[in-house]
Amino acid sequence: MNNFWKKIKKFFRGVLKYVNFAAAYRRGRLKYNHLFLNITSYCNSNCVYCEVKCLDHKKDLDFQRLKKLIKEAKDLGVKEISFSGGEPFVYYKVWELIDYTISLGLELNIMSNGLMIADFSEEKMAALKKLKRIFISFDSPVAEIHNQLRGGADFFQKTIAGVKKMLANDIKVSFASVISNQNYSQLEDLIKFTSDLGVKSIFFQPLHVWSNYDAVKNIKGKEDLLPAKKDFSDLRKKIKNSIVLAKNLEIDNNLPAISQWIKNYFIFQQPGARKGKWIENILPDYKCLEIFTKIFIDCDGGVLPCAMLAPRGNLKNKSLKKSLLSLESLKESIRKGNFPKECEQCSCQVASNFTFSLLLSPLKNLKNLAEFICDKF
Ligand code: SF4
Ligand code: SF4
Repeated sequence: MNNFWKKIKKFFRGVLKYVNFAAAYRRGRLKYNHLFLNITSYCNSNCVYCEVKCLDHKKDLDFQRLKKLIKEAKDLGVKEISFSGGEPFVYYKVWELIDYTISLGLELNIMSNGLMIADFSEEKMAALKKLKRIFISFDSPVAEIHNQLRGGADFFQKTIAGVKKMLANDIKVSFASVISNQNYSQLEDLIKFTSDLGVKSIFFQPLHVWSNYDAVKNIKGKEDLLPAKKDFSDLRKKIKNSIVLAKNLEIDNNLPAISQWIKNYFIFQQPGARKGKWIENILPDYKCLEIFTKIFIDCDGGVLPCAMLAPRGNLKNKSLKKSLLSLESLKESIRKGNFPKECEQCSCQVASNFTFSLLLSPLKNLKNLAEFICDKF
């Protein structure tokens, strides 16, 4: 019973937050609160669906520009920063950047593959304790499958050793997992594994075939990792079962915000099917929250409207404030419901946009809201 009321309280706190967001959104007054920063294009992993290895490392922002950017973001009202890459821990001055960010009073998350963490010194572990959270890329409880997807024979063992070390040091860890045809059948095992390990949350992202980085083309053959039509009823069953299991094990996750559209998104990505606003076939009134509250900066300084759209400027020749001004007309057009064609590919942010759309437009999205509530509670 206690847990039930805790969940209800958490839900209403979330609703209140979204109600405030909604009011500010309607008045066009939403402010940026989170900077997503790719601090390096180097990575020690070789994930089968990632184009990072094709990036031109010479174009990366230098340390002084990264520091200046973090200060600019703080001055604009940003409260939270997430370092990504590449792999943030291979960046030669990552520890200075962590110290600097924390010293400004900002909350910091790091998205990592976890491969180096088991070898960190006590001093480094102490620095990680100051972070809000570390998100670890983790795709399967089956070592061979995780290793195959992430591109290294001992990656499972190294990553899990790093996770155990962080948990032993009371560092907050979440898993981040890409759903593909290689791992969807293990979703329930993955939730169970997460719980057994002592990790309290896991967030999923359906595989997308588009390039993760605007500067380079997508890897050929990514389509081969999409679940096929014959897999969809099994995929739905696995997701529904995983939602129930995660609820029982008290593992925080975003599956209720994904379950309704994942199948259509996989269908949309099949060659020859990439037409139309696939999300509108699922959700009658889709709203974008991400472009208004998050700032996305690529390793080369590209200023992206979101993780999916092409950059609209570069920090090498402009301040952050000026670069963001160039996004205003796009934001206003999206707020009025006029999405550019590129948004048809929207993927990384659909889960949070989906939840926001339900709360902003509950009547138009009533059927989806009802299913979401049933899944969530
Ligand atoms: S997905 Fe992340 S860990 Fe994997 S290669 Fe790309 S940047 Fe590296
Ligand atoms: S791609 Fe998605 S997150 Fe990005 S601006 Fe379009 S709707 Fe928003």
